[in-house]
Amino acid sequence: MRGVVMHAPGDVRVVDREDPQIVQPTDAIIRVTAACVCGSDLWPYRGIDDATDAPMGHEYVGVVEAVGAEVKTVKPGDFVAGSFMASDNTCEICQAGYQSRCVHVESMGRIGTQAERARIPLADGTLVATPGQPAPELIPSLLAASDVLGTGWFAAVAAEVGPGKTVAVVGDGAVGLLGVLSAKHFGAERIIAMSRHADRQDLAREFGATDIVEERGDAGVARIKELTGGLGAHSVIEAVGTQESMMQAIRSTRPGGHVGYVGVSHDVQLPGRELFFSGVHLHGGPAPVRRFLPELIQLIWDRRIDPGKVFDLTLPLEDAAEAYRAMDERRAIKVLLQP
Ligand SMILES: [Zn+2]
Repeated sequence: MRGVVMHAPGDVRVVDREDPQIVQPTDAIIRVTAACVCGSDLWPYRGIDDATDAPMGHEYVGVVEAVGAEVKTVKPGDFVAGSFMASDNTCEICQAGYQSRCVHVESMGRIGTQAERARIPLADGTLVATPGQPAPELIPSLLAASDVLGTGWFAAVAAEVGPGKTVAVVGDGAVGLLGVLSAKHFGAERIIAMSRHADRQDLAREFGATDIVEERGDAGVARIKELTGGLGAHSVIEAVGTQESMMQAIRSTRPGGHVGYVGVSHDVQLPGRELFFSGVHLHGGPAPVRRFLPELIQLIWDRRIDPGKVFDLTLPLEDAAEAYRAMDERRAIKVLLQP
């Protein structure tokens, strides 16, 4: 089969990879209908994370082709969406709703779903079948549920977004934009998107943003304070993962407020004394997408949310190198790859 590997930073190739096989009786094999490039794939692309001939991709939807002997909830022919982390969905951590930290967790990124097929470990605890074969226009949204929507959704839950609250969103990538959509769904009164790109501002407004703040860093914090009577937001979603974005999030939050952080942390160091006096709640990490998948699939199926709008470029899998370039140069918000 054909699949994407990161040969070295900045060098994305589509190569012949071995066809996946059932290894464990809990595995499924899917034919990938759609995959995509994640903002987090740009860390190795830019040489910040290591990668040498690494299979790429952790987001996917597809059709089940084969299942191991112990798989009960999905069968060949089912259309499925799955989390970017495989989980058993039965251990104590999963039962508490933190499937991305399952005691048997397996990273789909190691398997690499930017490919024609993929082995899905722990299929029963990882995949959710859709109610039927989806209409083609639903596929981007179902794919978004695999990571960026589930992650934005978790960020909103972690930030305790709710009716009457003011929410600020740091980061205007796909996750930040879908954090806006999630905040809207949870009934936030005011949603402030922090973005300096016109196309992303437009999508943020479409998803429910009521205000746009173009400033970042301390100037951005000052604007949030100005918009909230000097108090800061009740809930802040952090969807970048840098020192600047994390401090921007914490400083934009009012005492007693909540930060939901989902940007993969890169060299972030929190000053203890400032954290102590901030009085804010911090919660986040790798989103337990599997917790939310059944609900997200239903909302998409019923056409109540349209998160697939974050895909502003679709390319054949063979053009994966161009997909990475477009995301790296911020010419595209998110690129869908069609095997
Ligand atoms: Zn588990």
